[in-house]
Amino acid sequence: MAEKAFKYVILGGGVAAGYAAREFANQGVNPGELAILSKEAVAPYERPALSKAYLFPEGTARLPGFHVCVGSGGERLLPEWYTEKGISLILNTEVVKADLASKTLTSAAGETFKYQILIIATGSTTIRLSDFGVQGADAKNIFYLREIDDADKLVEVIKAKKNGKALVVGGGYIGLELSAALRINNIDVSMVYPEPWCMPRLFTADLAGFYEGYYANKGIKIIKGTVATGFGTNENGEVTDVKLKDGRVMEADIVVVGVGGRPLTKLFKGQVEEEKGGIKTDGFFKTSVPDVYAVGDVATFPMKLYNEMRRVEHVDHARKSAEQAVKAIFTSEQGNSIEEYDYLPYFYSRAFDLSWQFYGDNVGDSVFFGDGNPTSPTHKFGSYWIKDWEGRWCIFGEWYSRRKQGNCQSCKGSASSPQFGSASHRGRHLCL
Ligand code: FAD
Repeated sequence: MAEKAFKYVILGGGVAAGYAAREFANQGVNPGELAILSKEAVAPYERPALSKAYLFPEGTARLPGFHVCVGSGGERLLPEWYTEKGISLILNTEVVKADLASKTLTSAAGETFKYQILIIATGSTTIRLSDFGVQGADAKNIFYLREIDDADKLVEVIKAKKNGKALVVGGGYIGLELSAALRINNIDVSMVYPEPWCMPRLFTADLAGFYEGYYANKGIKIIKGTVATGFGTNENGEVTDVKLKDGRVMEADIVVVGVGGRPLTKLFKGQVEEEKGGIKTDGFFKTSVPDVYAVGDVATFPMKLYNEMRRVEHVDHARKSAEQAVKAIFTSEQGNSIEEYDYLPYFYSRAFDLSWQFYGDNVGDSVFFGDGNPTSPTHKFGSYWIKDWEGRWCIFGEWYSRRKQGNCQSCKGSASSPQFGSASHRGRHLCL
């Protein structure tokens, strides 16, 4: 089989690949120099749409509507765009072997692709219940959501099981978004998760309390503190019920599982340094192997702000890390350098008519403010976290320092006054 050779190859055709391609074009890549290898059948798109408007009965999102880079307000890169730029978009092509020493990738069909510079953008795969040996986890109508094919299967089953019953396994943002989408489609939805509240890695009890109340008002039943341990099926092998660890049995025509993801690093095991489950990079997304970069979900990179190596599985970082890597490649080719990646974490999610945005890190003491009553028509609220408050903390946008003896904006009390920082003061004001 013929071998193809490119100066640059992006392995993966998701969010990071699309934003990297745009940056390659901005940097003036020559026609024929760049190829994207993707196992998906479509050009890079904004993946978050799959658990949101893609599943709505009205105002449905469909390609080509949400190809990158519309999610960040940029130009929509249609398949023709890649052709015009001379970028080879090689779809339906799963790479099954990567030999970083010989700079060769091999596809499932046996084609080989040579590169001078490789960007790994393989993203994540979903963790499956069968990975934990859950009995009956391979029954029909148990779904996972990562790629557009998965979303199409969900759309089909929503139509086929009109007014049916769904059980959503997992209380993270995917579980919350999918529960809302199913409910909007008039499906009777229950959610089950082992934690004491939804989105436990990000939400405080207050934030989660609002969501759980709001979901209950929408008719979604929430079962906490237990897990799915098995599935019953009918004669066609379709799921009929879900057995929970606490002994309950829930009827279900549809099961959707959102229990997390795992970065797709398998192809590179033993060839490249890894850390915290991802491919270790520097602040330019260079890996331990010369001419190999890793971006998006797979990269474990130095998060300067927190002085720590981290992996981030969110779309904003996928976009920005891709752009950073391409800029780094071009500037180093010109003998120049750019600033290291300095990322402020940003995540968001949308479900029903709700949306949240999160910036930074959720460590330290949390402070909840606003109207978090799920039945209130004016619900609007937030939370911030205060770490190392002995040193500096933020009150109403201004920095105060205990050492600097600043005054509290609320009570005008001085930082040196006895009540400052006391329990009673904490209760009444935001100055902790
Ligand atoms: P991906 O976008 O997953 O792209 C990886 C690509 O690599 C895919 O095209 C895949 O097919 C391809 N690939 C993998 N292995 C191979 C191989 N061996 N050969 C060829 N191709 C391969 N983040 C948010 O911040 N907010 C949200 O609301 C949000 N919603 C989401 C909803 C869903 C349903 C999902 C799945 C994710 C969501 N995310 C959200 C996360 C966000 O989409 C990801 O962080 C982002 O897509 C990561 O980009 P990536 O390019 O690293 O990986």
